[in-house]
This record gives sequence, structure tokens and C-alpha cells, in this order.
Amino acid sequence: MLAAQSHAATDPRAPAIEVRNLHKSYGDLEVLKGLSVTARHGEVIAIIGGSGSGKSTFLRCINLLEKPNSGQIIIGGEEIKLKTTQHGLEPSDRRQVERIRTNLAMVFQSFNLWQHMDILHNVIEVPVHVLGQSRDQAIATAEDMLRRVGLYEKRHSFPSFLSGGQQQRAAIARALAVEPSAMLFDEPTSALDPELVGEVLKVIKDIAGEGRTMMLVTHEMAFARDVADRVIFLHQGRIEEEGPSEQIFNAPKSERLQQFLRSIG
Ligand code: ADP
Ligand code: MG
Repeated sequence: MLAAQSHAATDPRAPAIEVRNLHKSYGDLEVLKGLSVTARHGEVIAIIGGSGSGKSTFLRCINLLEKPNSGQIIIGGEEIKLKTTQHGLEPSDRRQVERIRTNLAMVFQSFNLWQHMDILHNVIEVPVHVLGQSRDQAIATAEDMLRRVGLYEKRHSFPSFLSGGQQQRAAIARALAVEPSAMLFDEPTSALDPELVGEVLKVIKDIAGEGRTMMLVTHEMAFARDVADRVIFLHQGRIEEEGPSEQIFNAPKSERLQQFLRSIG
């Protein structure tokens, strides 16, 4: 079974995610200027920084939604094979990319649910059609995940009939259903009305508490302080400061980080 293989291919002693010296440009614009980040198994890393600092690009490179120009990405000890082309680096092993993508679930600001499917079918789509799980097994898992995010009763609803908070919780259930080794969240609450933010943060906090590796881009500083083991502050495509969340929020060293925290506090 594909899912079992994907987990066997990774080395449990290796860091969950390791990025070395990642560079990414769009044309002449250098967006990531040599980022190196390591996430241990079960570690929750919050990525903060101003708009345009490269947070989304960083997550999208890890998930191979963007092609880096140079650098290494190592997931669970398995280095992603990249080959040099005139457009920069491209993954050279399509099956490896599929395996790694299904092992690294991403949750987007805009939910990205399939509008023509009800919630249950959104959740079982990848397990059935990509991972080759039986329908019955996928439905059983999906129902479990939907219960965990408080949406079991809504499983036959279509996304457009749900609130933004419910849609994002459905997207989180969908991400969990592939049993990812790590989860990447890109501003999961930024598109929500303020009164719906709390229900989504609560679900993310529960998942973080289960010991899952997470990288989380967020503007919710109180939340980052609460759930993150470590915080990385990006400024113009570089790590300006990183450290335990307590240190970053209570005793920031860099002037830019102090300024950033004041500006959003
Ligand atoms: P953040 O998520 O921190 O706000 P992004 O990673 O989205 O920042 O963007 C970093 C920079 O890269 C910005 O200047 C943005 O305009 C630029 N950028 C992002 N995606 C693209 C793209 N597909 N084409 C060209 N420029 C892009
Ligand atoms: Mg972004």
C-alpha cells in the first residue's frame, strides 16, 4: 500500500523537515536568500514576518508547489531529488514528489476545498484516488477526522453551505486524513471573520498537542506564543531571528523584530 511505503521510506531518527540554504527568485526578485530550517519530529514552528517577507514561498517550496533555485529539502531523512534546468531546480522523480506531497499536508488561507464535492468526499478523495485506500477504510478514517474537527454532522454538506471556519476545519480534516508526517499551515485563519478564528485555532492547537510536526505561518501572535516550540522571524527572505517562542516574544533581540511585534501588537 502506498501510504505504508511512504512512511517506511523515511528515517524516524532524521529530522521531520530539513531545509538547507534555500534560494528562490521570481525573475530578478530574490525572495528567499538562503534559508536553513530544521524541524524535529513533533516540533511546532511558527513562522512570522511582514507581508512579502517570503513566508508563503518558503512553505510552497518545501511542499514543491514552487521550484527553488538552489538548496536542499530533506523530508524524514529523504532528500528530494532535484535536477538543474534552465528554470532552476526541478524535481526529477515524479513518484517521489507525489509521495512527499501526500506526506506533508498543507492547509491554505483560502481553504481550497473542492466545491463540487461534499465534505466527506473532499476528505476521502486523496486517500482513495492517490493513496489507493479502499473506500470503506477511507470513509471510516474521514468520519473520525471530521468528528475530531467537530464536523461529522456536516459531512454531507457542500463547502458553499458552510461558514469559513467550518470550511477551514474541513480542510484540516482533509489534511489529517492522509496521516501526514508533518503539516504546513499558511495563515489558516487570515481569511476568516474574527468570530470564527477561535474555533479553527482550537482545532490546530489540539493537533499540535498530539505531537505532530508543524510549520505554521500566522499573524495570530498570542496563538503562536501559545502553541509554538520555536519561532522564526523572516525579514526580506532571510531569518532575522529565531528562538524559543518565549524568547522571541518576551525578549526579542533584533530591532526589526521588536518593530514588527510593536506594529502588530
Ligand atoms: P509572504 O507570504 O511573507 O507575504 P510571499 O512568499 O507570498 O510573502 O511573497 C514574497 C515575495 O515574492 C513578494 O514580494 C511577492 O510579491 C513575491 N511573489 C510571490 N509569489 C510570486 C509569483 N508567483 N511571481 C512573482 N512574484 C511572487
Ligand atoms: Mg503569505
